[in-house]
Amino acid sequence: MLLDEPLVFERGAAGRIGWPVAHISESDTDAVIADLPPALRRDDGLAGFPEISELEAVRHFVRLSQWNYSAATTLYPLGSCTMKYNPVVNEAVARLPGFAALHPLVPDQLAQGALELIAALEHALAAVSGLDAVSLQPAAGAQGELLGMLLIRAYHTDRGDPRRRVLIPSSAHGTNPASAALCGYDVTEVPVDARGLLPARAVAAVMDESVAALMVTNPNTLGLFEEEIEAVAAAVHARGGLVYMDGANVNALMGVAKPADMGIDVMQFNLHKTFSTPHGGGGPGAGPVAVRASIADYLPVPRLVRTAAGLGWTDDAPKAVGRMRSFYGNFGVLLRAYAYVARLGGPGLAEVTRLAVLNANYVRARLCGTYHLPYATPSMHECVFSDRDLQDFGVSTLDVAKRLLDYGFYAPTIYFPLVVKGALMIEPTETETRETLDRFVEALTAIADEARTDPSLVRNAPQRTVLARLDETRAARRPILRWHRR
Ligand SMILES: *Cc1c(COP(=O)(O)O)cnc(C)c1O
Repeated sequence: MLLDEPLVFERGAAGRIGWPVAHISESDTDAVIADLPPALRRDDGLAGFPEISELEAVRHFVRLSQWNYSAATTLYPLGSCTMKYNPVVNEAVARLPGFAALHPLVPDQLAQGALELIAALEHALAAVSGLDAVSLQPAAGAQGELLGMLLIRAYHTDRGDPRRRVLIPSSAHGTNPASAALCGYDVTEVPVDARGLLPARAVAAVMDESVAALMVTNPNTLGLFEEEIEAVAAAVHARGGLVYMDGANVNALMGVAKPADMGIDVMQFNLHKTFSTPHGGGGPGAGPVAVRASIADYLPVPRLVRTAAGLGWTDDAPKAVGRMRSFYGNFGVLLRAYAYVARLGGPGLAEVTRLAVLNANYVRARLCGTYHLPYATPSMHECVFSDRDLQDFGVSTLDVAKRLLDYGFYAPTIYFPLVVKGALMIEPTETETRETLDRFVEALTAIADEARTDPSLVRNAPQRTVLARLDETRAARRPILRWHRR
């Protein structure tokens, strides 16, 4: 059976080999092993390594690859994560030898092309945000948030007014309070209203001179645009605070609305989401931070500067918060983002935004009679349903997510955001066609019907995957990495 694939160590037979390499004798391999660093060396030489034919090896790895879910195999509606299609041309660009083989310690004069690319990407992100200066260093969205909070702390401290609190709406991404707390701030949660939005009145009511900043995810994790954002920002600014925007979801704004115009002072981008780097499995990312000119002095070093001799790096920035990571950020991710921006241009980015918003609203409109929609406010790039109406049949959000796998779709984000009980958070992304969205909607509609007529089908899903339901707590705490046949 296609899915019955043993570990590579459990296959093959003693002495079986792949392509015979005539010129390597056993004493040669012994010499190679003796040369290995101790951590890689095994006392028993090659014993325990798989002994399989070349064809067995090819089939083994091709089959394993077929078990993967990715945007290349199915709609991947994981809300908040923007699992959109990443154009393959980006991969070709990232592999150009002039970039891929460039050593980070090469003198600046010999890396002018790469530095120009970094400068151009900084410029593009400044244009998208409407802000004045950008650092590409952070390696992820959450690290961008951390940098943003460090900048805000440095700004207030430099003014002799260190503050101790950060306001965060209940609809924020979970990394926001973590980033604020890492910088030593006390977090005050501000509840959203019945429409799922942050009311300026609620912010003004808790805002005082002890507050360093408001951290707002916009669109928020309900996929809603913060309609009062300008008044919210004004209330924070009136008492000397700054406004931080978690811009991981800027695929709902770019080219159409600028965070700077909304009163945002500092924000991070998630290049691996919006600007198309494959990012399943926790691969490398980039979380650039954009700031107003009044905060630019604190940006990390090294900084890219243009002189008569061309572009170069400098550490000469006395107020800088330091360095966020080695070298200059994840250059391969920056390269893909640049390729994406260059290919689309400003109008293309605006079109991406419009399609992302259209697709989410299409899914929302088609499913809102079938699944409970806790907040009826129009969506931006994603929409959030709940399992409220399925509970009478003993069917939960987890069951629906598992059943979707049987229908050949990856599951949405579930049980997040926390403000919605039993949340099903769907982000279709702009890269899906109407036909795919229709098939997805039809699958979710069929699952809702099953829940009412034959709920055990949904409760016992999935039936068509390699493994069915895992004990998720044990799987995380005590993973068993050996194969077990069903
Ligand atoms: C993904 C995401 C983050 C975290 O980004 P990482 O790159 O995973 O660290 C933060 N905020 C929001 C809204 C996100 O969607």
